[in-house]
Order: sequence, then C-alpha cells, then structure tokens
Amino acid sequence: MIIVMSHTTNELALKKVTERLEQAGILAHISHGENRTIVGVVGDKSKLNVQAIEAMEEVEKIVHIAAPYKLANKDFHPEPTIIQVGDLTIGGDELVVMAGPCSVENRENLLEIAHIVKKAGAHILRGGAFKPRTSPYSFQGMGEEGLKILAEAREQTGLKIVSEVMDSDNLAMVTEYVDILQLGARNMQNFHLLKEIGKTDKPVLLKRGLSATIEEWLMSAEYIMSQGNHQVILCERGIRTFETYTRNTLDLSAIPVVKHLSHLPVIVDPSHGVGKWRFVSTMAKAGVVAGADGIIVEVHQQPDKAMSDGYQSLNPDNYKALMEDLRQLAPIVGKTLH
Ligand code: PEP
Ligand code: MN
Repeated sequence: MIIVMSHTTNELALKKVTERLEQAGILAHISHGENRTIVGVVGDKSKLNVQAIEAMEEVEKIVHIAAPYKLANKDFHPEPTIIQVGDLTIGGDELVVMAGPCSVENRENLLEIAHIVKKAGAHILRGGAFKPRTSPYSFQGMGEEGLKILAEAREQTGLKIVSEVMDSDNLAMVTEYVDILQLGARNMQNFHLLKEIGKTDKPVLLKRGLSATIEEWLMSAEYIMSQGNHQVILCERGIRTFETYTRNTLDLSAIPVVKHLSHLPVIVDPSHGVGKWRFVSTMAKAGVVAGADGIIVEVHQQPDKAMSDGYQSLNPDNYKALMEDLRQLAPIVGKTLH
C-alpha cells in the first residue's frame, strides 16, 4: 500500500502519518519526489484503519498494491483448489456437470428429470427448494419437502445434489440434505449468511451478485473462507448491463480473470447468464473454452410448463446434444468428462 501525501505536506504532517502506522506496528518507507512525498507501507495491515488514514487532511490518496482478499488469492496459494465431493472432484481434471430444473416442483417430475440428466452424464443434480423470486406472489419453492425429494433422487441415481440456502435460519436444515450449498446471486453480499456458511464444512457454490465486481465477488469468497470453510466454488451467472435482449450478460472474461487471480474452481451458469434457452448451449461451451471447471444448467422435461425459469431451461433433447458436444470439447481443454 502506498500513501500519497497531499502537495502541501510538511514534516509535521508526515510525522502524524508515520505515528499512526507505528501504532499499528508498521514501518513507513518515505520517499520524497520532486512534487510529492509518498509513504510505502509494508507488513500486516490488519490493525490499521486504512480509511481513517485516507481521511486525514495531509493525505491525498491511498494506492493499494495487494488485493484485499488473501485466502482466495492465488499469490499465496498458487496450486488450484480441488474440492472433493464424494468421488467427484471440482477444480481438477474433471469437467463437472450440474443439471436439473430451476425449482423442485413435485416428486414425480424431479425424479424423472434426475434420471434423464444422469443418463446423459450429469454428476450433480440442481434444483431449488427455496426460491429467491422477484415477486412475492410467484412460486417460492417447496421448502424442506423439496429437499427430501432431492435426497430421494440422490438415493435413486447416485447424483450429488446442490440447492440454494437463502437465510441462516434454514442453513442447518439445508446443510443436512445437500452435498453442495448454493449461495444465490441476490445473497452474495449477505455478510451474515456468508459467515454462517463459512462455519459449515460443506462445499459452497458462490454465485456472482447481479452487479458485483470481480473483487467484490472474491471478497465474498474471502468472507466464507475467513470462517474456516475453504471449499468455495465460484459461479459466473451473468451480470446486469445496459443490454436487455438477454436476461443478463454472461461475463465470460470473468472466468480467465478469476482463474488468474484465485485458486478457487469456477463454474459457468449459462442459463441465468443469458436467460433464453436458445443461447444456453452455445454459452455453456464458450464458458468451458474460457476455462470453467464445469457448468450448471437448467433442464426441464417440459420447459413450457416449468414453475420457474422455463424460458431458459433446456429440454432433454437439447441437453443431450449439449452433453455430446461437451464430450468432444473436454479433451481439447484438457478436461475429462465421465
Ligand atoms: C438459480 O440457480 O435458480 C438462481 C436463482 O440463481 P441466481 O442466484 O444466480 O439468480
Ligand atoms: Mn433459475
């Protein structure tokens, strides 16, 4: 971190700043330039109130050199994190496929689609039991009943399950049923929930917030990791832009960027990313080429009857075609797809 002193700085002002640093146990490295004086700050800044220093009259601005996330940062953990979910690995050589409906709607449909996605080669069954809907009048999910149905589908198919947890009240219950907790885009900065999830030992699929920068997203991962749970899987699911043709803009460039900055696995969600089934398969493949460790995709046996997100759900035939393409693509990007 570098403190740039204001152009009117003098020895007294510099002393004020360096004293603050010393109080936090940090040594200052002062350089006098022709027009400006800068103070280099090296060391553990955890006891330093950086914003308060930036508020000092004598300080022009602070320039950060290191990223604010440490545990999620590749600099301190160069090897990729590989998350073990039973016999499956996420973040290693395997291309992981999570597929299923947006919501668990009823037992019969869920069990049927679970067998369909399993047969075509999925590893993990997705399905929301608690749904974050824009309207309070829309279907809100089946709650615990939905989780029980997911668990039954796991019994029958051997698929792992991923499902969203929306609040800390339900965290213990959802944790009991799922193999991976999903933290939805709308909750990406629910810091209390992030911390509570961080105290569990479940892998977490952390979706990028609707308008979150990459750094904010990684800081949310940091929240979870700071509590001891390092099994964070990042999920790029599209962000808000000025474009309205697609539901969101799938930020494909975020995938290599995050892979560059962090050691955590990345999954691409083209369903919420584009919001129109027609474009989902293409963007799923693009996400894999961009370096994603897997995909999460919405599949419904009758998208026109789905209780949520039907317009972005693949039907079984389109899903099977996507899986065939992914099987050809996987070795090209150095992945295996079983
Ligand atoms: C979902 O996966 O169905 C979902 C609601 O996702 P997101 O939080 O990315 O909108
Ligand atoms: Mn959905």
